[in-house]
Amino acid sequence: MTSTEHTTVQGATAFIPAQASPYQGDIARYWDQEARPVNLRLGDVDGLYHHHYGIGDVDHAALEGTADGACEKKLIAELHRLESAQADFLLDHLGPIGRDDTLVDAGCGRGGSMVMAHQRFGCKVEGVTLSAKQADFANRRARELRIEDSVQARVSNMLDTPFDAGQAAASWNNESTMYVDLHDLFAEHSRVLEVGGRYVTITGCWNPRYGQPSKWVSQINAHFECNIHSRREYLRAMADNRLVPQAVVDLTAATLPYWELRATSSLVTGIEEAFINSYKDGSFQYVLIAADRV
Ligand code: SAH
Repeated sequence: MTSTEHTTVQGATAFIPAQASPYQGDIARYWDQEARPVNLRLGDVDGLYHHHYGIGDVDHAALEGTADGACEKKLIAELHRLESAQADFLLDHLGPIGRDDTLVDAGCGRGGSMVMAHQRFGCKVEGVTLSAKQADFANRRARELRIEDSVQARVSNMLDTPFDAGQAAASWNNESTMYVDLHDLFAEHSRVLEVGGRYVTITGCWNPRYGQPSKWVSQINAHFECNIHSRREYLRAMADNRLVPQAVVDLTAATLPYWELRATSSLVTGIEEAFINSYKDGSFQYVLIAADRV
């Protein structure tokens, strides 16, 4: 793939796909430089590195303990368990996948979901991310696990991937749709998916019932340099691209315990309040959408 070295005003460099927009260059640099303890220390628990949030009830019994260090360790393990439960829930919706199938993870981050998908289905998983550092990290983990022949991450724009038409039995975005135009994104998934294939996303979206993006949603956008779409936009862009929703699951209530637990930890990033308030006032929702490629 042709790529270029871009230098930022701060002097940091990033290896950016040639067809990427200036905005995508910003996002590549953001993820190249990202090293928040909340992401790395949770991944260190079992070697699955996620950049997404958790779902499910907190196991309070698992958090009990007296010594300070032990408490913190238990909390990290519990947050990580909820993040892996989120990825498992996404994989539950991919449908029947065989060992010979290929899956595509669009916006794969450090590759935690890819590893889980391979471990579950025994199949090939191809990931794309804008960040060369993330792709290197994911590929290094795959080598450590000796699954590099099946799990591969590359630096590529998910709106313009190197994959063949109809190559994938299923594809997904795990918290990566807020960086792109949804029509462009779903056109590319629709191209890469085989007819009858399955597309799944888990994402935060603003709730059309609220009216417009709330101040909390705007704060989240500013924090992550992203553009959260509405639930309505997802369904419209899917309908326009031969993706027919099979399930829409509101995970808002299921993700709140994760956020409330995280807000009490030393790993807070400052954005917890915006997530909790917007989930509670109904302006923001955490959803899974699974769609058939027809
Ligand atoms: N899905 C991963 C990472 C989510 S973080 C996980 O669940 O852990 C968001 C990811 O989207 C980052 O890896 C970022 O590089 C990627 N991303 C954002 N815009 C992209 C684009 N246009 N093409 C490819 N990847 C993109």
